[in-house]
Amino acid sequence: MNNVLPNNPKCDICQHIPSHAEVEILHTSERLPKEVDQLEIIGGNHADSTLGQLRKCPKCGTYYLWFHDHDSESGTGYGYTDEGIERILPDQALECVDANLKQIQTFKRKEAYKEETDRLVKEREAIEVYGQA
Ligand SMILES: [Zn+2]
Repeated sequence: MNNVLPNNPKCDICQHIPSHAEVEILHTSERLPKEVDQLEIIGGNHADSTLGQLRKCPKCGTYYLWFHDHDSESGTGYGYTDEGIERILPDQALECVDANLKQIQTFKRKEAYKEETDRLVKEREAIEVYGQA
């Protein structure tokens, strides 16, 4: 499943983002490319870190998964904070949309996530149309 998808050399944003990158931000000065911040956040703001956050390039529509994971080492050390980005295919984006929608359904205050839910549903429809092409 770890397809290395080629980056989009024509896209101002995507040409700077590798297909997979992971950095440890607590102890090192390594950071993800700044272009990662320009990606549009579709959903997953409240999801647990295993789901990741779905992001999309506002220029070319390429999907990415963004991860932020803090491991406290069970309180025995300073822990680690990893951040990562991975380019994904539309069907992987669809899986991420569904996983996040499913998770929101389990929240007590679902209405607080209405905006995100709407965005996820809209994205789901877009992927289904685009995915058939
Ligand atoms: Zn792009």
